Amino acid sequence: MSNIESPARKSIALVAHDNRKKNLQQWASHNRDTLARHALHATGTTGKLLQDSLGLPITCLESGPLGGDQQIGARIAEGRIDCLIFFWDPLEAQPHDPDVRALLRLAAVWNIPVACNEATADFMVHSPLMNSAYPRAIPDFSSYRGRHERPPESGA
Ligand code: PGA
Repeated sequence: MSNIESPARKSIALVAHDNRKKNLQQWASHNRDTLARHALHATGTTGKLLQDSLGLPITCLESGPLGGDQQIGARIAEGRIDCLIFFWDPLEAQPHDPDVRALLRLAAVWNIPVACNEATADFMVHSPLMNSAYPRAIPDFSSYRGRHERPPESGA
């Protein structure tokens, strides 16, 4: 195990499927002051809606079905996202379900806190860890990365 330092000012990724966008907008409005202390990133449509309703700067990536979920996943793998608030729709299949799954998978791989609904997002942003530096544990992937390397030749 090693650690990646999540700074006090977090990079938070926000994503909501269409049927959940209003819920995320409402939740974000209630928590605007907390969100304002952090760097916000979002998929395209979610980001534009939140920018309009919150009046906060948000880095808007591509729309989710056009690759935005994968862009956030890539930033997680690069250590550039500290938290994910992802209101995915549990009642409707999405055209980009493989991307949704991939994003949740990468968040699990890299030990990123994920909130998929209002209650979890409340617990997340009201945690004292949200506004302080947090050494996020990263599993040791070295043996996974080296799994195809040959063992060293024996001297005999
Ligand atoms: P959107 O993407 O914010 O562009 O709607 C979200 C998603 O469906 O993954």
